[in-house]
Amino acid sequence: MVTRERNAHCISRVNIDPDALRVLYRLANTGHTAYLVGGSVRDLLLGRQPKDFDIGTDARPNDIRRLFRNCFLIGRRFRLAHIVFGRKVIETSTFRRQPETSESDNGIYQTEDNTFGTPEEDAKRRDFTVNGLFYDIKTFAVIDFVGGLKDLEKKTLRCIGDPNIRFREDPVRMMRAVKFAARLGFTIDRACRKALLKHHSDILNASVPRVCEEVFRLFTYNSSSAAFKLLWEFKLLQDLLPDVSAYIDASGKEKSPLWKYLAALDADPQNADLSNGVRAACLYYPLFLEHLRKEESAAPHGRVNKQHIARVVLHALATRLHIPKATHFTAIALMDVQRRLGESPKKGRGHRFVYHPAFPEALAFQRILLTAERGDMTLLNEWQELYDQEVARNAPRPQDEGQDHPEAEADEPRDAEEDQQPRRRRRRRGPRPGGPRQETGAGAGPAVTVTEVSPPSDRTDSDD
Ligand code: ATP
Ligand code: MG
Repeated sequence: MVTRERNAHCISRVNIDPDALRVLYRLANTGHTAYLVGGSVRDLLLGRQPKDFDIGTDARPNDIRRLFRNCFLIGRRFRLAHIVFGRKVIETSTFRRQPETSESDNGIYQTEDNTFGTPEEDAKRRDFTVNGLFYDIKTFAVIDFVGGLKDLEKKTLRCIGDPNIRFREDPVRMMRAVKFAARLGFTIDRACRKALLKHHSDILNASVPRVCEEVFRLFTYNSSSAAFKLLWEFKLLQDLLPDVSAYIDASGKEKSPLWKYLAALDADPQNADLSNGVRAACLYYPLFLEHLRKEESAAPHGRVNKQHIARVVLHALATRLHIPKATHFTAIALMDVQRRLGESPKKGRGHRFVYHPAFPEALAFQRILLTAERGDMTLLNEWQELYDQEVARNAPRPQDEGQDHPEAEADEPRDAEEDQQPRRRRRRRGPRPGGPRQETGAGAGPAVTVTEVSPPSDRTDSDD
């Protein structure tokens, strides 16, 4: 075990969430061991803003519940405490050890996972050394049972234990390896790389919703291009989305046009707020273009049905990853309407188009495509201007405040993708000039900006 004292590392309590500190102090003041654990310690040591602050303790779930009125115990097999502060949840779990495993011809199975353990056992059950560090609230020291400090300095992603076993126990760890390496700019160590190449196809044994969740997490932190490149190199992409992998192989590999679209997505100023529909559309856009060109050359004078092409192209993503219907329909709609933004809004029925439920996403998608293709932004700016005008025109007037008004809803947190469920088109004559809109439902007008879809549930620990 290595202990790095408070003056030898950069973690300061100023950078720790005050509610997480409250939980840590309450546990420590009632005689328990209380550590900040996992990704938050890693990110604080790297000078990054942690996404969430998880806590590990020797207090048992029922002790934790007694200490915090705002505590809910969740999980059937291993009980975790969720300590709730408004919308924030501080996940607090009792130290546990690696579950027992048994091996059969078909793989490695974890049998039991509800066994409490020591802090050392808890560190060793984690996936990567840089994710196995603890910050002790009593001494302010960082505690390292797994060699994570050295690996953080060397920017190396290394499995805790034998990667051949750890990846087979839980194949989603392979996707996590790719995600962390891309996000942090770390090198995957040799043993892990070999194991990835050997066991990549085990990813098909993992639960589809977990895999889908991890695929969309690859788009976060502006690192989708690096992440999908690793996914392709380690052949995980070939297992998960063979159509995308084959497209990369056939279109120049490292020089495939796909990378420029993902790079533009990563560089987009609104990257963090983009919906999964926009992300899926960016990933599949080069495949869509290729298909479109083929159809157009096969029918030089006939009309090609872009929506049909988008549907065909996205079919594999939808069926293999079981993506939510809303994400699927949004991606199809984006590809379908995208060319409309290549015409001036002054010419056609631009005022109506800005009321399309997916219009804000279509704008974002077009911005990304133009960035990738180094295209002219003049028309896009015209659409943006028109959209902004419509938003301003539909802003609630003071006398409308507090009334049952569509804009009032816009402040409510919503699952944006829910809102994008395609609905039957109602015939109407464009936006009503001035005054509150009559339409109901989000996405009925431009005042409702459709953003994402926060990444799916934060918990990906397979053991729960
Ligand atoms: P992020 O910033 O994306 O939240 P994180 O490292 O906090 O990254 P989480 O998915 O929130 O990742 O998981 C929290 C911690 O739980 C990890 O740091 C790791 O120690 C442990 N963990 C999560 N998933 C696994 C897994 N599949 N196998 C082993 N340990 C895991
Ligand atoms: Mg986390």
